[in-house]
Amino acid sequence: MGARRIIIVGAGLGGLSAALHLSARGFQVEILEKNSTVGGKLNRMVADGYSFDTGPSLVTMPDILRETFAVGGARLEDCLTLQPLDPICRYRWPDGAQLDLSSDVAKTSAELRRLAPQDEAAFFRFLSYGADLYAATAPVFLFNDFRDWRNLWRQLDGRLLRQLPRLATLRTVADRTADFFSSPHLRQLFNRYATYNGSSPYRAQATFCLIPYVEFAFGAWYVAGGLYRIAEALAQVARERGVKIHAEAPVAEIVVEDGAARGIRLANGDFLPADAVLSNADSLYTYAKLLPGLRRRAYSDDRLARIEPSCSGFILLLGTARKLDALAHHNIFFSSDYPGEFADIFDRLTPPVDPTIYVCATSRTDPTQAPPGGENLFVMVNAPAVCDAYDWDDVAPSYRDRIIARLAAAGLTGLAESVVVEDILTPKRFATWFNAHRGAIYGLSSNSLRNAFWRPPIRAREARGLYFVGGGTHPGGGIPLVLLSGKIAAAAVAADAR
Ligand SMILES: Cc1cc2nc3c(=O)[nH]c(=O)nc-3n(C[C@H](O)[C@H](O)[C@H](O)COP(=O)(O)OP(=O)(O)OC[C@H]3O[C@@H](n4cnc5c(N)ncnc54)[C@H](O)[C@@H]3O)c2cc1C
Repeated sequence: MGARRIIIVGAGLGGLSAALHLSARGFQVEILEKNSTVGGKLNRMVADGYSFDTGPSLVTMPDILRETFAVGGARLEDCLTLQPLDPICRYRWPDGAQLDLSSDVAKTSAELRRLAPQDEAAFFRFLSYGADLYAATAPVFLFNDFRDWRNLWRQLDGRLLRQLPRLATLRTVADRTADFFSSPHLRQLFNRYATYNGSSPYRAQATFCLIPYVEFAFGAWYVAGGLYRIAEALAQVARERGVKIHAEAPVAEIVVEDGAARGIRLANGDFLPADAVLSNADSLYTYAKLLPGLRRRAYSDDRLARIEPSCSGFILLLGTARKLDALAHHNIFFSSDYPGEFADIFDRLTPPVDPTIYVCATSRTDPTQAPPGGENLFVMVNAPAVCDAYDWDDVAPSYRDRIIARLAAAGLTGLAESVVVEDILTPKRFATWFNAHRGAIYGLSSNSLRNAFWRPPIRAREARGLYFVGGGTHPGGGIPLVLLSGKIAAAAVAADAR
């Protein structure tokens, strides 16, 4: 096959992964990124010696990352230093209970015996349930384009699929955690994993109970120097393979003529022809803004307005002038009303009154991330996607104060006084920074079967030579999944080129 020219809109992880897989298959690849830096939602801010990863803080399924480097002819170990975390996370509840979850089974068992001895065995049964879910669903729904019927047919394994009724995949995550655990603390802890793809445990289907298993089986990792190193390293490997990456090159239109993608038009009016176009920009944003020439059957403006986005995030980046020894690398301060919190986010579309607060302090394990004697806190609460009812710019200052007060009440006293560097990231900011539809951080929510399985497919139905890659398409959001979408999209492009 002669080298065919492929344009990718966006240098997020999905776009970088697709570029590596496509160039390994002999395509000429060019990426056009609107921002000055690569990485998309995996990004970084640096101020006065404090460094903050502004997006992901946890790497799971590192073999997928390893494979992405390998397809570019590089070894992950030569490019990045992955560090296992122990504990994986420190959980605290309003009643004073605390638990350190470790991938060291003996340590976790000891913690469970202390907090909820009646549920120690249930924990291992729950992990084994997650392993069964993973075995039954991952080959079909994660590693392949199940929307391509030929693929689906090849991958269907009757023996595994017959298990699905037993695995109760159509019940919710919260139903299943209640089946396994009697401790309200552990129910809340394992319900939280539904937020790993921006969904509510009270609505997302039980399949997502495989996430804790994945975290235990494949580990929870940090990248020395910050997770932004992943984006830098992937971009470097891509460039070495001949991929051209243009920063500050916003695309205004994907040009579709006679039912086929012909190239893109930049915001400055230049037209760049291509044999195929992959949009790594949010798929719903792409339909709404980049495809004016397309007759959109499935994604009319009406339909787009009705699709539920994943949750967004409200984030405080806080550089402190003192150490906070109560913190581990990852910390969760749970709310007292978890159902109410998700009703705020997905039903009432309002910032949660009583939010669960995630605090990531990479400076606890990586001294390069903050000046000596300080911490770099990434403080995040799940927040609703942007809606018309209020403006995040108005809400942000008082919501920031409420979160800091909650942390003080939970034991992080003196935090407000020790902050020397600060920034706030709101859903509105995510919407403009990355063109994320309504500021959603994982694309579509997986709160319904329809949303989970009927996201815009990788191979667009409306035009030949038009593909999607990243969290807004199959298999979904999160680092490993968007890397997989790049691999699957490259295979689709190659198959169509043949
Ligand atoms: C706060 C936060 C916390 C998270 N935590 C985790 C975590 O701990 N673990 C995990 O695995 N995942 C996490 N995620 C999710 C993960 O970051 C995303 O799923 C993933 O990075 C998305 O990658 P993507 O390829 O879909 O594209 P994006 O990152 O959305 O990149 C799309 C790119 O397209 C560019 N673009 C958009 N429009 C245009 C245009 N018109 N022209 C040119 N370029 C354009 C954007 O600027 C952007 O660079 C988190 C995300 C956020 C925001």
